[in-house]
Amino acid sequence: MKRTTKKRMRRNAWMIILLLLLIMTSISGFVLIMSQLEKNTNNHNQEEIEKAREIKRSQLMKKANQLVKGYYYQEAIDVLRSDSEIVNERIKDEVKKIEAMMMELKPYTGRIEHVFFHSLIVYPELAFGPQSSQPQGYNYWMTTALEFQRMLPLLMERGYVLVRISDLYDVDSLGNVTQRDLYLPEGKRPLLMSIDNVGYPENRKKEGFASRLFINQNNEVSAMIRNLEGLEIESRTAEVFPIVDDFVKENPAFSYRGAKGLLGITGSWGIMGYDPKITSEVATAKVIVQRLKETGWEFANHSYTHADGKYFSESSTLEGIKEDTQLFNQWIIPVIGESNVFIAPFGITLKGELYQYFIDEGYTFYLNVDRRSQPKIIGKSVLMPRINLDGFVMNKDKEYITQHFFDVDKVYDHRRPAFE
Ligand SMILES: [Zn+2]
Repeated sequence: MKRTTKKRMRRNAWMIILLLLLIMTSISGFVLIMSQLEKNTNNHNQEEIEKAREIKRSQLMKKANQLVKGYYYQEAIDVLRSDSEIVNERIKDEVKKIEAMMMELKPYTGRIEHVFFHSLIVYPELAFGPQSSQPQGYNYWMTTALEFQRMLPLLMERGYVLVRISDLYDVDSLGNVTQRDLYLPEGKRPLLMSIDNVGYPENRKKEGFASRLFINQNNEVSAMIRNLEGLEIESRTAEVFPIVDDFVKENPAFSYRGAKGLLGITGSWGIMGYDPKITSEVATAKVIVQRLKETGWEFANHSYTHADGKYFSESSTLEGIKEDTQLFNQWIIPVIGESNVFIAPFGITLKGELYQYFIDEGYTFYLNVDRRSQPKIIGKSVLMPRINLDGFVMNKDKEYITQHFFDVDKVYDHRRPAFE
């Protein structure tokens, strides 16, 4: 009995040891498996993190690339450095590449070209048709939407880049104006652009021009036009503004740091299709002005009356010019904001005290029309010539335009009537 008990006890002890061993091995096995699992998970997490970083890198590089195309070099570098977690050799190389590009920029020293347009002819059959109020005037002084669309890529091919006047000149607090170095890549040259009047009188709406600007559902400045059936429809190709905005979106290299052009507003024509004397229309116009400014456009005084005689002609009087400017200050400035650019109606160059009046009123830049001259600093002002790229110039000055801007034969709209 005792022996058997002893034997059993021994057996039990063995069993316990075995059991303990078994438990220990299972535990260590379990721990091993768990740690392996954890390691796998860690590896997996690490991979996931790296994958996410790589995606972020590509996103930032894409964004930086777009910025570089639009001449925002430092901004592109800032974007690449915006997340220290993801900086690696690839990012560092990209930063170096952009820094090298910045070193290559040269201050521009060539001619400064300022081109201008009026509202575009969208339907030549109306503008030049039997019902048109002035088919010959339109043929001379207007550009068709088709021509304008053809010009942009050709201007870009020639190296032109839209800039702001403030990219070319500094004006200090006393009104002294000096030329400013504009650093551009080799082969690029600045282009200033302005659009005169930007008003849509009733007769023009029936003559194949846009009827007003407005903001579409994508928060873009767009144009409304009465189509050939008489319905008012949105068109992205009926005015300079949506055409340029869309072109720059596709070709950021055509705009220096987002610059677009200048709208020369004329009081008596309404502001972009809105009456400055009707409160509700003013509210709408202000929203469009705001959006245009946000997207690179600027505004200029193109006179209130846009009338000759005592206002803007050889026989202009100081009294007439004061009257016009006061009306502009009263009705237009509250809508478009202050500007230091005056675009002379009919391109007239006022002389003596009449010219001085505009400088005294705070207009540093006086824009006239002249196809050959270059801007000139005169006292506290710049007399800046502009060239009209319209039917008249494409016919009468074809060689010069082809030499300086684009091949006229590739642009000219043959729906125009024969030129006299
Ligand atoms: Zn005008």
